[in-house]
Amino acid sequence: MAALTLLRLAGLSRAALTLAATLLAGAALAKAPKLPETVPVPVLNQSQPAQEDAPADVPVPEPRPADAPKPDQQEPPASAPKPTEKPGPTEKPVEAEPEAQPPTIAPQPPEKPDEAQEKKMQPDPRSADVPDEKMPDEELACRRRLKSMGVDFEEHKPEHNPEIGCSIPYPITLKTLGKSIAIGPQAELNCEMAEAAARFAADVIQPAAKAEFGADLRSISQASAFVCRPRHGTRKLSEHAFGNALDISSFTLSDGKKIEIGPAPPEKDGKFLNAVRKAACGPFKTVLGPGADPDHALHFHFDLEPRRNGGTFCQ
Ligand SMILES: [Zn+2]
Repeated sequence: MAALTLLRLAGLSRAALTLAATLLAGAALAKAPKLPETVPVPVLNQSQPAQEDAPADVPVPEPRPADAPKPDQQEPPASAPKPTEKPGPTEKPVEAEPEAQPPTIAPQPPEKPDEAQEKKMQPDPRSADVPDEKMPDEELACRRRLKSMGVDFEEHKPEHNPEIGCSIPYPITLKTLGKSIAIGPQAELNCEMAEAAARFAADVIQPAAKAEFGADLRSISQASAFVCRPRHGTRKLSEHAFGNALDISSFTLSDGKKIEIGPAPPEKDGKFLNAVRKAACGPFKTVLGPGADPDHALHFHFDLEPRRNGGTFCQ
């Protein structure tokens, strides 16, 4: 009897243990899912955007220790009050959103410039230009026109920098812009740009100087011709990299007067400079100067960059 009792007791106790275990397990299971459900949802929602970049920065580690899922399973009774406490911790991550957001914002800017740089870095087809053994007819014709205009120039060795992309297959060194118009210092340009500059000096600048000051144009000071560099603020190659641009900083007249390009020239100078700048838009496809941007506060930039529909960009 005692054994039966013992067995029964044991059986009961086993059953009780089993029940208790089941209950405990059930309770643990019932509670365990609830915690992950309540806790991870807000945490994941917040941390998901930042997972790739700053998982450690997000306060995920803190809530998880606070959740203490393992202690809950080991101490089912004690876990009862804790779930009510846990909504508290889940609220903390909400407060931490501002902290989680900056990391998500921070990594984005580096991606955007990368994309932009890739677009800007699309190679310019002119970068592949190398001289043929025989100079093309159009280059020869250009040189004949320069000579007929009284322009003094010399042939320059080809420019070709595959790393940066600069290239002029048939550059010339421009020593004057005509019989009576000097340029200083000498300017290395492609022939088309040299011709455009010479024509503009003779056809526009000289008459404008005569009209405004009653004097002839004697010389032009250039600030930049061929330069192997990207455009300011971008990685796109400047037209200077193809000898296709000329920067002019001042004009000197036959009476010695010097007209400098700047943001606030004297009134008469300003009138002359505005006339020149306005007339440049057309013969040159890009015209920049004071007011366009800080880089062009002290010179005119003229270039022959080909544009869609033969358009111009003048500022
Ligand atoms: Zn320029």
